[in-house]
Amino acid sequence: MSNSVCIRLNEIHIESILNDHDTFLFDCDGVLWCSPNILPGAIELLNCLTKLGKRVFFVTNNSLKTQRGFSQWLNEIGYQAKPEQIICTAWITAQYLKSINFKGHCYCIGMQSMVEELGREGFHISDGIGPDPVPPEADWIETNTIKFDDNINCVISAFDIHINYLKIIKAATYLSRPNVLFLATNDDVTTPQTDIAILPGEGTILASIVAASGRSPTILGKPRAPMFESIRLAFPDVKPNRSIMVGDRLETDILFGNRQGLTSLLVFSGATSEKKLDTIKQAVEKNTADKDLLPKFCIKDVNHLLQLIQS
Ligand code: PLP
Ligand code: CA
Repeated sequence: MSNSVCIRLNEIHIESILNDHDTFLFDCDGVLWCSPNILPGAIELLNCLTKLGKRVFFVTNNSLKTQRGFSQWLNEIGYQAKPEQIICTAWITAQYLKSINFKGHCYCIGMQSMVEELGREGFHISDGIGPDPVPPEADWIETNTIKFDDNINCVISAFDIHINYLKIIKAATYLSRPNVLFLATNDDVTTPQTDIAILPGEGTILASIVAASGRSPTILGKPRAPMFESIRLAFPDVKPNRSIMVGDRLETDILFGNRQGLTSLLVFSGATSEKKLDTIKQAVEKNTADKDLLPKFCIKDVNHLLQLIQS
């Protein structure tokens, strides 16, 4: 294929897209669903690709559910997704710990999904999950009242709706100890927006721990390599040059696809508008943005992709 980018996908390309790829990786929020609603054509597209013999994966930075949790939900709404097709950051974290032969105890700022997914691989989260309340009448935290665990040798930062000052103190303090591993599921600064509120994402939580500790984490989710390495470890026959990544965010999905040697396809149903893509294109032309932020192909949404395949 040529080196040109941002090609508007149409009937001319669809045959070679299908012939040249046997693995389809779909980012989830903004591509297949805009929580909690499934986007039009998504289930039909996934079923159609499966019928055509394509391997389909759901590749999400969302750490709120386990592989099994996502699979159960997808099955409830009409798609037959096996847990192993779900590449989510709670699962990736467990796979990463396994790959480095980690032994020890984790402090994890995150949700119950992290406990379950790490537990399935035999890793123990000692603290950090759920509310860790500061007394409502307190106007300062007495450090001698904080319970620290001497056995912690890994701090994991994931998305946590219970994040508070005490949790940041604990994470930063554990990270001040020598040899404590620092992992983060992902660094999306926001989660998908609603019309009424800005929703800070895991990257915003992570930034506070990085600032307080002065440490740099190993980040596991898109656009970082561990996400794809885990897929290849579990499915050695997945070939980057025969795989396509469909996503809505330039700085996670598209960068991930391009850096891992996959074909990248941007949809405009989520985080990236055509205007934003144009702005980044201009920045790339002026050498002020990374050219890997630009997708090889773009299309309105998965419904249009389905229509092209069926036409
Ligand atoms: N993190 C959280 C907590 C989310 O809720 C979401 C999307 O819903 C994401 C990350 C991004 O998910 P994706 O990679 O599927 O766009
Ligand atoms: Ca997305």
